[in-house]
Amino acid sequence: MKPTRTLLFTPGPTPIHPAISNTLSQPIPHHRTPEFEAIFGYARQQLKDMVGLAEVLTLVSSGTGAMEAALLQFVPKKEQPTLLVLDNGKFGERFGKIARAHHLGVVELKSAWDTPISPDQVLEALQTNPSVRAIALQVCDSSGGLRLDFENITKAAKAHNPEIITIIDAITALGVEPLQTKHVDVLIGGSQKAFMLPVGLSFLGLSDFALSKLEDKGYYFNLKLELKNQQKNTTAFTAGISHILGLQTYFALVQDLGGFDALYHATRKRAESTNKALEALGLKIYPKAPALCMSVIYHEQASRIRKHLHKQYGVLVAGGQDALKDYLLRINHMGIIEVYQSAWVLNALEQSLVDLGLLPSFEGMAIKAFMQHHYKEI
Ligand SMILES: *Cc1c(COP(=O)(O)O)cnc(C)c1O
Repeated sequence: MKPTRTLLFTPGPTPIHPAISNTLSQPIPHHRTPEFEAIFGYARQQLKDMVGLAEVLTLVSSGTGAMEAALLQFVPKKEQPTLLVLDNGKFGERFGKIARAHHLGVVELKSAWDTPISPDQVLEALQTNPSVRAIALQVCDSSGGLRLDFENITKAAKAHNPEIITIIDAITALGVEPLQTKHVDVLIGGSQKAFMLPVGLSFLGLSDFALSKLEDKGYYFNLKLELKNQQKNTTAFTAGISHILGLQTYFALVQDLGGFDALYHATRKRAESTNKALEALGLKIYPKAPALCMSVIYHEQASRIRKHLHKQYGVLVAGGQDALKDYLLRINHMGIIEVYQSAWVLNALEQSLVDLGLLPSFEGMAIKAFMQHHYKEI
């Protein structure tokens, strides 16, 4: 029998949680009502706790909108380059493209998608480019599943020059792991990743230093205007009403789980157990510093494996992008995921390798390694 439903296991968009789907199907309150403002205020407080910064803004856009808003707001336009971008994959590259689209002076520090740029390299780039006033980087560049040491990179940047604004794209990290935001000024999130919502909301956490730099700039992405409104639990334009209601449900789901610490713990355990299972199958984990939001493997036949997994076992994982399009498999860990779902993905993967003649026989090696690691505390 062919699968009748697809198990969506891509690192964005993630499946919408059933409780959130239910919320999204409800009639909406008008956004200029006390009823909605109370919900907005609740979501705002929860988000603030989550980002660990002085303020948070919610925008109606995909994640890229918040990236663009951050650059427009915080990168001064000067003759010399004012922005340093860490290009460790497609999303780092995107910061550079946004900057160039707005004629902002940008310096890019590039590295292979599997090799994280180090704090020392960043420091060196800052020393050779004294006009830089902002740096932008990912916690995890989702194109290769690489984890950057953003904690020490932002620390080094601030030690070099405390006036530098640190802009962190945490779209695949917010809701995945606790984030140390001591040296972060702008922290970006998006609704279609760990929040298990549809695409359409983006978040911008802002430090006191970032708040002190806010200017009345731009129109739709006028962050100063948004802040003025959102501090009163309303928005400058029509709020993403359904999404905000969905966000309220998300926070209730996390609370039912035992709070964010419980969620972060479960995510780490699933991610690490999955990596153990992949290694037990003899597969190569692609990034040298893997993030927790996804497991990424490199395989010459990744594209074939991916298609087979989908067609035969109803499991949809992501492939690679650009030059790595046919060589990566990316397996999601973001959101609230049942252990049996991750376990099935690994079983189906092992069986697919057998079906395609890439493994001699099905031995349950993946599930064994996964279970042993996942339940070793018992
Ligand atoms: C998904 C993602 C984005 C945002 O992409 P959108 O399609 O605009 O939501 C940005 N950065 C990273 C690291 C991502 O994974």
